[in-house]
Amino acid sequence: MDPLNWSLVAEAGCILAEVQRAADAADRFFPLSLGSEGTCQIGGNLSTNAGGTNVVRYGMMRDQVLGLEVVLPDGRVLSTLTSLRKDNTGYDIKSLFLGAEGTLGVITAASLKLYPKIRSSATAFVAVPDVRTAVQLLAELRDASGDCVSSFELIPRIGVELTTTHIEGVTDPLDEPYPWYVLCELTSSRLVDTLDSVLEGVLTRAMERNLVLDAAIAQSERERESFWKLRETIPEAQRLDGASLKHDVSVPIAVLPQFVERASAWVAEHVPEGRLVAYGHVGDGNLHFNLNQSPDADRDAFLAREAETKRAIHDLVQEFGGSFSAEHGIGRLKVTELERYAPAVELELMRAVKRAFDPHGIMNPGKLLRAGTV
Ligand SMILES: Cc1cc2nc3c(=O)[nH]c(=O)nc-3n(C[C@H](O)[C@H](O)[C@H](O)COP(=O)(O)OP(=O)(O)OC[C@H]3O[C@@H](n4cnc5c(N)ncnc54)[C@H](O)[C@@H]3O)c2cc1C
Repeated sequence: MDPLNWSLVAEAGCILAEVQRAADAADRFFPLSLGSEGTCQIGGNLSTNAGGTNVVRYGMMRDQVLGLEVVLPDGRVLSTLTSLRKDNTGYDIKSLFLGAEGTLGVITAASLKLYPKIRSSATAFVAVPDVRTAVQLLAELRDASGDCVSSFELIPRIGVELTTTHIEGVTDPLDEPYPWYVLCELTSSRLVDTLDSVLEGVLTRAMERNLVLDAAIAQSERERESFWKLRETIPEAQRLDGASLKHDVSVPIAVLPQFVERASAWVAEHVPEGRLVAYGHVGDGNLHFNLNQSPDADRDAFLAREAETKRAIHDLVQEFGGSFSAEHGIGRLKVTELERYAPAVELELMRAVKRAFDPHGIMNPGKLLRAGTV
């Protein structure tokens, strides 16, 4: 732990929640936060370039890294475990291991950035008429708060219905049903801050222009937790509700409304057995554009739509200049998608990197790049 350098070094096996706790104990903040933080390890977070709910303010795991120690496939140790903020000495080799899914070497230690400790926050559950308004509201909140927006999550009405039906203790924070919601959080390192009044001011002005239909600002930590519980249990509620088809996509934030409009229209026309459950990290242009089996639909008939649906959604994402895998990586499941959508030159360079680091193909063979193509 090096508080004055705003950094710490985590070694192999370190769990994400331990790093968060260590930072907190030193009056610092480590921003990566995701549902699996009590069990996932820093090596896994680095290798999957994990995202989570604070990316809009702090970036992904890649953005938290100052240095790495890596054991290469031939046993040599690459030690770039520095905590330098500036180091312009040629290729940034360490960055190749971030998001590499363990295909180039084993990360054994990492030097990570820390930030000022969060001492105040304001959280609201906000009803909006459509995705366009959500994107507009994000811009206004970033502007008015001095860029203090640390989370901005989009939730569709069906997300509220699924969680209140399937998850114990989840309740609808608002009295009436609305088409879309935003769960937004402002945070600051200042103990006495005006975040609540900034949030209230922006929401009131937005209400006067019908951009916001209704809103609840958390009055206690318990209320804040209940808003977050609704958001974080959507995947579990989806699972309990039946079969689902999942797409983890991103597009530039400004075109997200048009993407949702076009993709929803395609689903309505072509997948009568499914209903859309599109939610996620709108502040990052990242949506989990999922479909759940309709209550009266046949499970097999719904699942039979998988390939056609994936192709249509991912082709549309490509048309919008987006990514078919915003934060879940490639693994083995999305190798074919990578081959379809990555530019040929990029794929060639990826294979060249793999050959240079792992000429015998012993590191996670078949992940990210198809075995036999390297
Ligand atoms: C409930 C839940 C919620 C989640 N929410 C999010 C989210 O919001 N955003 C998001 O981005 N992700 C999310 N995830 C996925 C998340 O990215 C992973 O849980 C985590 O980042 C991976 O860490 P892990 O320790 O589980 O790694 P593992 O699953 O063990 O490994 C992941 C990959 O990294 C490789 N690897 C692991 N350790 C090393 C190492 N030391 N060196 C080299 N390679 C290594 C493995 O071979 C594997 O390919 C979620 C997962 C769960 C279960």
